[in-house]
Amino acid sequence: MSAAEARTQDQDGAMRQMLARQRNAHHVDGPPSAELRIDRIDRAIGLLVGYKYPLAEALREDFGHRSVHATLLTDIAGSIAPLKFARENLRAWMRPEKRKVNPAILGLFGARARVEYQPKGVVGIISPWNFPVQLTFGPLAGAFAAGNRLMIKPSEFTPHTSELLAKIFRTAFDESEVAVFTGGPEVGAAFSKLPFDHLLFTGATSIAYHVMRAAAENLVPTTLELGGKSPVIVGRTANIDLAAKRVMMVKTLNAGQICLAPDYVMVPKDKAGDFVAAAQGAVAAMFPTLKDNPDYTSVINQRHYDRLMGYVADARAKGAEIVEINPAREDFNQQPFHKIPPTLILNPTDDMAVMKDEIFGPLLPVKTYEAADEAIGYVNDHPRPLGLYYFGTDSAEEQRVLARTTSGGVTVNDVFMHISMEDLPFGGIGPSGMGSYHGLDGFKTFSHAKAVFHQTKTDVTGMLRPPYGAKFLKMVESQIKR
Ligand code: NAD
Repeated sequence: MSAAEARTQDQDGAMRQMLARQRNAHHVDGPPSAELRIDRIDRAIGLLVGYKYPLAEALREDFGHRSVHATLLTDIAGSIAPLKFARENLRAWMRPEKRKVNPAILGLFGARARVEYQPKGVVGIISPWNFPVQLTFGPLAGAFAAGNRLMIKPSEFTPHTSELLAKIFRTAFDESEVAVFTGGPEVGAAFSKLPFDHLLFTGATSIAYHVMRAAAENLVPTTLELGGKSPVIVGRTANIDLAAKRVMMVKTLNAGQICLAPDYVMVPKDKAGDFVAAAQGAVAAMFPTLKDNPDYTSVINQRHYDRLMGYVADARAKGAEIVEINPAREDFNQQPFHKIPPTLILNPTDDMAVMKDEIFGPLLPVKTYEAADEAIGYVNDHPRPLGLYYFGTDSAEEQRVLARTTSGGVTVNDVFMHISMEDLPFGGIGPSGMGSYHGLDGFKTFSHAKAVFHQTKTDVTGMLRPPYGAKFLKMVESQIKR
C-alpha cells in the first residue's frame, strides 16, 4: 500500500469513527431544543463575524487574487443572511403540521393526523472551491435549524480556506456537533461512501455521478447542487443597457466562477450590436483596469486558466468573433495570477467547446435569434440548466419563456439574484441538480417529515375485521364509485 493510500485509509477510519460518535450523541441527547439550534446558529454567525478578514485573506491566497470586498459580500454576508433567516424562523418551521383525516368523520370521533419534522441525524456536506465559505455555512443554516449534526468535506482547491474552516469550527463547536475533514478527491470519495442520514453535495455534474453511486450503496438520501449552462434570454422589450450591466456584473463577480453565472446570452439579431457595446461600457465602468485591480478576481488555478483560454482559441479557430474587454489595454501575458479579461464570444456555434461545457469563468458567448421561440427551442435542446434569466417587459413573452423551459430557478430582469431570496428553494433539475435547500425548503430537506396518526378510542375499524359479509361488502362498494 502506498503512503497516500495508507493516509486515505486512516482518514476513512477517522471519518467512520466520527460518524459513529455524532450518531451516538444524536441518540443519547435526542432532538435539540429550539434554543440549542439557535445557539449553534449564533456560534456559526460568531465565527463569520470574528474571522471575516482571515477568511477573506485565506481566499485571496487560494485564488491568487480574490476581491476582499466581494468575499465580504458573497461569502461572509452571504452566509450570515441564511443563518439569520433560519434563526428567525426555525421555531415556526419546527411546529408539527396538522393534516386532514379521511374519511372526515374520523375527525369527529377524535382521530388526528399531523406531520412532525424530526432531525435526520448526521448530515454530510461536500463543498466546492468557488464559494467555499458560503457553500459550507449556507447548508449549515438549514441543517442546524433542523437539529442535525454535521460532517463537512471542503475543497482541496482552496487549501488555506479549508484548513482555516477546520480550525475555526473547532474553536466554537464540539466535534460531535461539527467536524471538518480536509483532503482531495480520494477523501471526497471515502466521505461519500459513509452511511450518513443525508448527504448534500455541491460540485460538478461529472462528480455527482460518483457521489450518487457511492450514496446509493447505503441508500443515503442525497441532495445534489450542481452546475450547467444557465442561459440569458434578452427579449425585444428589454432595457439593453441595464440587462448588459446586470449580466456583466455577475459574469465578472468571482471572475464568473459561479454555478449560476450567466453562461451564454441570446439577443434579438438587430440588438446584438447594442448589447455588445453596453457590455463593454458596463465592464469599463466597473473595472477601468483589470490586471492589478483588487476588485477583479483571478481564475482559481493554471488548469482552469488553460481550460478557459482553450475555449477562446477553439472558438476563434471555428469562426467566432472574440471581443476581449480590456479597458486599459493591459498585457495579460505577464502576470503573477491567472486573471482573464471579460471576453465576449460572438456568433458561437454548437461545435465549439465553449457551447458544450459549463464555462465557469469570465467568457460570455452571445448568440442571436429572430423569434423568441427560437431561443426557447435552443434551451430545450440542451440539458436543463440551474438558472434561466429573462429580460423584458412583455409579460406574455415572459410567461411563455417560463412555462416552456425547465430550469432549477429563474430570475426575471436580472441574473443570479433568486439565490439570495432566502424564502425560495434553491436547487437544480436533472443534470443541474436534485433536491433543494435554503429557508423552509432547507429545513425540510434536512428533516424527516414523519407522519403521525392518532386513532380514535371508538372501535371505528371494527367493521374492517373479518368475518366479512353483506354489511362489509356494502361499505366497501360504497367507496368503489366514480
Ligand atoms: P468538484 O465536483 O470538482 O468538487 C466538489 C467537491 O467534491 C470537492 O470538495 C472535491 O474534493 C469533492 N470530490 C471530488 N471528487 C470526488 C469524488 N469522486 N467523490 C466525492 N467527492 C469528490 O467541483 P468544483 O470544481 O469544486 O466546483 C465547481 C462545480 O460546482 C461547477 O460545476 C459549479 O457549477 C458547481 N457548483 C454548484 C453550486 C450549486 O449550488 N448548485 C455552487 C457552486 C458550484
